Amino acid sequence: MAEKAPAAKRAPKASEKAPRKRSDASEPKAGGASALARAVRAKAGAEAPPIPYAPEEVAEIFRRFAVQRAHPTSELEHVNTFTLLVAVVLSAQMTDAGVNRATRDLFARAATPETMAALGEDAIREAIRTIGFFRTKARNVHRLSEILRDRHGGEVPRERAALEALPGVGRKTANVIMNTAFGEETLAVDTHILRIGNRIRIAPGKTPEAVEQGFLAIIPDGFLRHAHHWLILHGRFVCKARKPDCAVCVIADLCRADEKTCDTAAPLVALPDAPPGPQPLPPGAKRPGG
Ligand code: SF4
Repeated sequence: MAEKAPAAKRAPKASEKAPRKRSDASEPKAGGASALARAVRAKAGAEAPPIPYAPEEVAEIFRRFAVQRAHPTSELEHVNTFTLLVAVVLSAQMTDAGVNRATRDLFARAATPETMAALGEDAIREAIRTIGFFRTKARNVHRLSEILRDRHGGEVPRERAALEALPGVGRKTANVIMNTAFGEETLAVDTHILRIGNRIRIAPGKTPEAVEQGFLAIIPDGFLRHAHHWLILHGRFVCKARKPDCAVCVIADLCRADEKTCDTAAPLVALPDAPPGPQPLPPGAKRPGG
């Protein structure tokens, strides 16, 4: 068995800090892996429990995610911040594809708080009846539309407190909106991220908040902007719930999950086709000038 790397420490209070808005939020910091590792160390706290990854490995994991998906985005269809908010509210206990099927028609009829409020709860309920908990969700969507229209000038607020005051909006939904719509460095922990944090032991925790704190404490600055989507997509398509697809995983050589199904390192990115090289020569023949 491979020798375990020295452990990175996690700071316990990371999620209590206000989310940071970086001017260079969409791009990793320059400086390479060692600079990133220093950033991981700088964030680490002395009292936090250890994780089985060195700071250099944490930095490398997120560097590879950044190479693999340079511009990740939500798979929930939306046309503006308001429809993103509605889609996220509807997505609880649902697949993105299931939400998209229902919202295409709904958003064609109502894509602003004013038009959604005017549409009415009954029509919203009818439009989303293929979605789980559609009665409660229709009530929430209608009510939050009224609140946005009446108290926020028809705009989706940027502040966590104002978002979480809306019906059907909890910490996870607020994190998604703050991150995806407003570029804040927040991390919304869904079922995929909760699983990855625990499975690969990089941010273990029993609750979404504990896992969120673990990730926020170790993800190097510059990577937090997209970490939410990288981790969700990694969990959805590679590190799947039933059986992780380790053979195609870009962090397989670094991963210390007990469930890992292979030790093979995968290529970081698909390499372009190699240009045609010299063709083999018949026996005894020489190349011109050779
Ligand atoms: S190697 Fe396997 S278990 Fe580890 S992150 Fe990749 S898919 Fe998940």
